[in-house]
Amino acid sequence: MIRLLSTDFDGTLVAHNAQPAVTPTLFTALRELRANGVQWAINTGRTLWHSEQGLKEFRFPIEPDFLLVEERDIYRSTRNGGWEPLGDWNARAARDTDELFSLAAPLLAEVLRFQERFDGVQAIYDRGNFIGSVTKTSADMDKLCAFLEQLRERLPMFNYQRNTIYVRFCHHAYSKGTALTELARHLALTPDEIFAAGDHFNDLPMLDGLHAKHVACPGNSCDEVKKLVRTAGGYIARGTASEGVVEALRHFGAWPVVKA
Ligand SMILES: [Mg+2]
Repeated sequence: MIRLLSTDFDGTLVAHNAQPAVTPTLFTALRELRANGVQWAINTGRTLWHSEQGLKEFRFPIEPDFLLVEERDIYRSTRNGGWEPLGDWNARAARDTDELFSLAAPLLAEVLRFQERFDGVQAIYDRGNFIGSVTKTSADMDKLCAFLEQLRERLPMFNYQRNTIYVRFCHHAYSKGTALTELARHLALTPDEIFAAGDHFNDLPMLDGLHAKHVACPGNSCDEVKKLVRTAGGYIARGTASEGVVEALRHFGAWPVVKA
């Protein structure tokens, strides 16, 4: 039985170019699942603040139980509109990430030089660290990621999370997948009890069938995601974004909730 949902936000719950951006059926499904004891985590590359803004912008009538943000940190709802870190995971992640940025400094200098060839590329900085980039085109990001793959051979703890034309550098121990498994450990749940859905590269680590057994992707997902979900025995929806998520919840028999 599914007891935890781990859903990406942009492109999975929200279709930015559609009207409505989120089907009201998703809200009904989430409400009913929650009333039946199923917990819901949004697992996103957004920051905590940007996630809260997203929930407001798209008028979600309910809040998730957990926000897993920046493909790394885990926050639990305090039930009064606030969020608190779950255990010491975020502190450990911050420590490991600081270590990564100090060891990866020479590699990141190479990344800066390499990406100069791309027209309109922008480096993203946080607290003085070069933490990621945004390119003008997907083709440029393909090339940048191929370069990053080569660098990983020289420093195995160096990894990156790609979402469309954005990339963020990270410690290899932290991803949507490892954050989900940490949350499951905390809730004493096994992968059999977890549903995960996502649409893009940064969702791959939670869609391999290891962290969640019931994996799905909406019809608008990138080919790499569809391929992994297929390999993991998951469900590729026809519907876009939230319509696809509702379709997947039906497919796995999670919703509508059948009372025993
Ligand atoms: Mg997405």
